[in-house]
Amino acid sequence: CAKQLGIGEVQLFSSSMNIETLKSFQIENDLRNAIENNEFYLEYQPIIDVYTQKAVGAEALIRWKHPVWGKISPGEFIPIAENSPIIQDISEFVIKEVYRQTAEWMKEGVKFNHISFNLSPKNFLKNNLFNIIKTNVEKYNIPQDVMKIEITEGLLLRETNVVRDQIEKLKAIGVNIALDDYGVGYSSINYLKQYPIDTLKIDKSFIRHIEEESVDSVVVQSIIDLAKGLGRKVVAEGVENRVQFDMLKKMRCDFIQGYLFGKPVSENKMKEIFNLEKVHPTVTNNQVSVER
Ligand code: C2E
Ligand code: MG
Ligand code: MG
Ligand code: MG
Repeated sequence: CAKQLGIGEVQLFSSSMNIETLKSFQIENDLRNAIENNEFYLEYQPIIDVYTQKAVGAEALIRWKHPVWGKISPGEFIPIAENSPIIQDISEFVIKEVYRQTAEWMKEGVKFNHISFNLSPKNFLKNNLFNIIKTNVEKYNIPQDVMKIEITEGLLLRETNVVRDQIEKLKAIGVNIALDDYGVGYSSINYLKQYPIDTLKIDKSFIRHIEEESVDSVVVQSIIDLAKGLGRKVVAEGVENRVQFDMLKKMRCDFIQGYLFGKPVSENKMKEIFNLEKVHPTVTNNQVSVER
């Protein structure tokens, strides 16, 4: 049924549209200066081994502190950056910073198995990505199998030679690939056969209702079995409470990431978490009280 709008509502709607359009225009504009002005930085979210409850890895997540608007989420500015050449500079910043930080932790003797970071499909379509990463691998002397690039399946759909070539060359220098947000896209099993994919990250939308949605729990169990059967690692994203954690443990999921064991934090906080023998849940009841 059609929604009836009063004149006032129509005006409100169109003026808020303008504000949104203006804001995204402004964001695109301000992104150009953000690197030079040092407005970007990385936070790290722990990835926990389900059996030992130790933080064995972390995902680097970009943050933007805008001089006027304050913190802008990557969910908002990355899609805008992806529509312009700026995404190349942003990713270059992320690569340099994550390699620098990882090398520093290694020098300090901090113990962890892997650090992952996100790249945009747009980066893989440019054929200089491999060289940028190789330069940093060599500069910081990072051992094989420590770094992991998170990509979404959409990239593999493109099936271009440039993409395939770069993924294979990265694997050859010991940089692993994780499929992010697994399950929401095409989830073609074929990609797992065709590409050297190290890890599947189950999208948080399947975890959110895992307790009450039997369909979601079947999907999650299937992804875990598939990953393990193929010798891949599997991470569940967006784990927020004990019930979800216990279910995933029963399902034999290897690793989990989510607010239950820690939100994204500064590099210093992350170092402290890496140094813990065991990470404890941030809550004792089933609900996590955090701002979204
Ligand atoms: P993603 O790669 O799937 O990252 C996971 C997102 O889920 C992060 O949001 C993280 O803070 C959030 N998250 C983690 N645990 C929980 C939880 O228990 N509950 C809920 N509700 N959320 C949780 P964030 O940092 O806002 O990043 C959003 C997306 O932006 C990322 O999704 C990724 O696609 C993109 N992104 C972030 N950093 C970068 C980057 O450096 N480069 C690129 N190209 N994209 C990035
Ligand atoms: Mg990710
Ligand atoms: Mg994800
Ligand atoms: Mg995502």
